[in-house]
Amino acid sequence: MAVLFVFLDGFGLGRPDDSNPFWRYRAPFLEGLLGQRLTQALGAERPGLLARGVDAGLGVPGVPQSATGQTALFTGVNAPALLGTHITGYPNGRLQEIIAEHSILKRAVQAGWRAVFANAYTDVYWQLVQEGKRRHSATTLTNLAAGLPFRDFRDLAHGQAVYWDFTHSIFPRYFGIRGAYRRPAEAGRNLALLGREYDLVLYESFLPDMIGHRRLPHTPRWLVWALDAFLQGVVEAMRPADSLVLCSDHGNFEDLETKLHTENPVPLLVVGPAAERFHAARAITDVAPAVLRALDVSAGGT
Ligand SMILES: [Zn+2]
Repeated sequence: MAVLFVFLDGFGLGRPDDSNPFWRYRAPFLEGLLGQRLTQALGAERPGLLARGVDAGLGVPGVPQSATGQTALFTGVNAPALLGTHITGYPNGRLQEIIAEHSILKRAVQAGWRAVFANAYTDVYWQLVQEGKRRHSATTLTNLAAGLPFRDFRDLAHGQAVYWDFTHSIFPRYFGIRGAYRRPAEAGRNLALLGREYDLVLYESFLPDMIGHRRLPHTPRWLVWALDAFLQGVVEAMRPADSLVLCSDHGNFEDLETKLHTENPVPLLVVGPAAERFHAARAITDVAPAVLRALDVSAGGT
């Protein structure tokens, strides 16, 4: 069995009106699975399925941000409460320490599970980091803490990795690579197939956050379609014992009336037998412990 942990940056639950792209545009797979659209009223719990909004504010005033939110999501530690504030962008020194100690991938590896971070990295990324021009994101630090290798574009070409931009829509513009389009369902299937070799598969996409901030030319309508097809590809390629766990660090994409992050709850979606492990989850800090419980790791830590 495998747990496929999909992190979507900036993906909250919006209102039941046209400000919410998941209200405005159709997502046939998700709507069929959940029997409802993705809104703040999201609620479903039955064997093999759990879907609800969870809190990303974590008791700290202000709008949730990426560095603290992702640290909370990938460690289970209430990072904004420890720092007394929500921190944007990339983890600072204190957050780096928290991730180095409590990384979900590190704890899975220590417990003897096979874990993989599915995202493909470019050689340019590592070069920029070395030159001090890029800082590691929370997921990168989560994988570094586990001492695991990173996937590259060779893995991607062989279907053994998934790019954060899972249809490769930015490839022609940024990498000069033509004809590299990947159907969303195929990318989702590739992700699920990593679950044949690994017990825990982590994947992140910042498409919702970047489109929410209007930093990409893609329309919200496109992303609703693409994400729906991507998740269908994941679920349809899963074996009965596999589970999909989807969550976010803060809202953004679900409110088209603002280009900024929101204080909305974020969706927690679990498909598969791990769903029952998430029964008590109410905040993004509850996700990593529940994933580890699903792998039968003691939630008490290392
Ligand atoms: Zn974020």
